[in-house]
Amino acid sequence: MLKPVSDIAPDRAEPLLEVRDLARTFGARDGRAAGLNVIEGLSLAVTEGEFVTVAGPSGSGKSTLLNMIAQTDRPTAGTIRLRGKTIMDASTSTLTPGWHCQIGYVTQEDNLLPWRRLEENILLPLRAQRRLDDAARARAAALIDTAGLAGFERFYPHELSGGMRKRASLVRTLAYDPPVILMDEPFGALDAQTRTELHADLLRLWSLRRKTIIFVTHDITEAIALGDRVLVLSRAPARVIDEFRVDLPRPRDIDGLIAAPGFARLYESIRQALARQAPRRA
Ligand code: ADP
Ligand code: MG
Repeated sequence: MLKPVSDIAPDRAEPLLEVRDLARTFGARDGRAAGLNVIEGLSLAVTEGEFVTVAGPSGSGKSTLLNMIAQTDRPTAGTIRLRGKTIMDASTSTLTPGWHCQIGYVTQEDNLLPWRRLEENILLPLRAQRRLDDAARARAAALIDTAGLAGFERFYPHELSGGMRKRASLVRTLAYDPPVILMDEPFGALDAQTRTELHADLLRLWSLRRKTIIFVTHDITEAIALGDRVLVLSRAPARVIDEFRVDLPRPRDIDGLIAAPGFARLYESIRQALARQAPRRA
């Protein structure tokens, strides 16, 4: 069957971010005689504007992978390339977290400063980088509006709900405007209802400025709901063992997702891929 061009184009495009044969071994610790191979031979490539989700069990090395891409940790082997340029390999002596404003990182914590109002929290990284011009302010205002935070600009974090703080942290990263954004189970601590709302919010925010996103999660539904593609990780030592294209049309109806045609089949395929993995070798 002939595939539509829109389907095959991302595979042909030059990757924006490329991870090749990445490995990370942690040293021996108390109670653990040998070092721990958390990641081994992990490769992936993401094209501009793509939303890739990475599904893997807890402890499979997802955070470790993102830490290396964000340069808060270094690999034992392998390379990370951005627009074809190697920005990190095992010989990199100095870490450059966020690689010159090119890589944003949203973690499970919202990391808002309690003594700054919402708007100030959102503008802070731009101000720190001396990039707070009119265009940046307009971009932030549009994102605040889309996230349903208009009217709360002068509130302090403790005056906001958990979901609102999370939205503020998403807006802060998007307003900062890095071409690549990493997300590490950012909605993990929220209740199911708020998570679903945030999935819809995140997709709405992303549709304003189609950033390249790598979103890691242990939740299959979340991986399908958000991604153009789902990469499945093995247990540690992690590598990509399978890949699924999500053909659900955008904009997506998050509430009706599990009833959407194809959802159940995709969910089951990913579940089986996760279940098929080799037993833990650690
Ligand atoms: P995930 O995010 O998929 O749950 P992590 O990347 O946090 O997994 O951790 C993978 C494994 O690596 C775990 O067994 C964890 O204990 C170990 N690990 C992570 N960071 C370190 C570290 N700095 N030192 C030693 N072991 C670590
Ligand atoms: Mg983690």
